[in-house]
Amino acid sequence: MYLHDAIINVLSEKDGQTPRQIAIKINTSKSYVRKDGELLETQQISARINKYPNLFKKENGKIYLEKNLVSRESSHTKLSSYKNKATIITETKCICNSCQNIWYYGKSDVMISRANDSLNRGKELLCCTGCLPALFITDKVVVDHNKCPKCGTRSITKSTISHYV
Ligand SMILES: [Zn+2]
Repeated sequence: MYLHDAIINVLSEKDGQTPRQIAIKINTSKSYVRKDGELLETQQISARINKYPNLFKKENGKIYLEKNLVSRESSHTKLSSYKNKATIITETKCICNSCQNIWYYGKSDVMISRANDSLNRGKELLCCTGCLPALFITDKVVVDHNKCPKCGTRSITKSTISHYV
């Protein structure tokens, strides 16, 4: 099941819930489990809702199903028609000034890396500064977009590109 399907399920039981309430419901029912097994975060729910404005609408911080979405059947029809529409994706192109390596990252990549970053900071708080075991807590990888993945230099040139998918 896709995350947006899980959100639709939660909202068809009770329309008008905050992203946080939705995240808790999905985490409890396990109708959608992240690939890494971590709990869903409110931020992820909000991001998905923003990505599918034809499925959900926001009012006073609460999320509602679009009125014309009556059943799961029609939600699938809606989704497939959405997929056929052209979407503009904005990506950041990075060129390494040292080894000429070229790589890209998208908006969603940045968000995921930020979420992991804050989780890692939470872990550091559990441990004293410079405490050795903290060095071995590496189950979350923070992608550093300001560093060349090949040679590790921070001397990079960034440009933003948009394209249709
Ligand atoms: Zn490089």
